[in-house]
Amino acid sequence: MTDEAWRDQLRSRGQRVTPQREAILRALSALPHPTPESIHAALVAEEPGLSLSTVYRTLAVLQELEIVSHAHIGSGPPVYHLVERPPHIHLSCLRCGAVVSVPVESAAGFTRDVAASTGFRIDATHSAIYGVCAGCGTIGP
Ligand SMILES: [Zn+2]
Ligand SMILES: [Zn+2]
Ligand SMILES: [Zn+2]
Repeated sequence: MTDEAWRDQLRSRGQRVTPQREAILRALSALPHPTPESIHAALVAEEPGLSLSTVYRTLAVLQELEIVSHAHIGSGPPVYHLVERPPHIHLSCLRCGAVVSVPVESAAGFTRDVAASTGFRIDATHSAIYGVCAGCGTIGP
């Protein structure tokens, strides 16, 4: 999304476009899986007045406007994505902590079977799936 598209989207929802909001949106598109903390750390040099609580509040507003979404990887704070990124599932390595992304279609068979048998609609993108990455070898204790 271009800077101009963000501005239009914010304004069309009656939201103010502030330099801090624009900086947060730029950080969201530049960083791979940013938490509110890593967005704050990346921006504090250029936006010294930006507080961590402003980052949290801004992300909440952007999520309400469906400009960003969040996912959970590990036990720390959630990570945020621009909604325009293609939906993906996070695979998190139990040994080295690497995060591998695969398209949400990878889980299509599983989500379809579960929906058919239970009516439960899985959002496979919302939380990471844990295992062992290719570099760390086969699954074991
Ligand atoms: Zn991701
Ligand atoms: Zn959540
Ligand atoms: Zn690994």
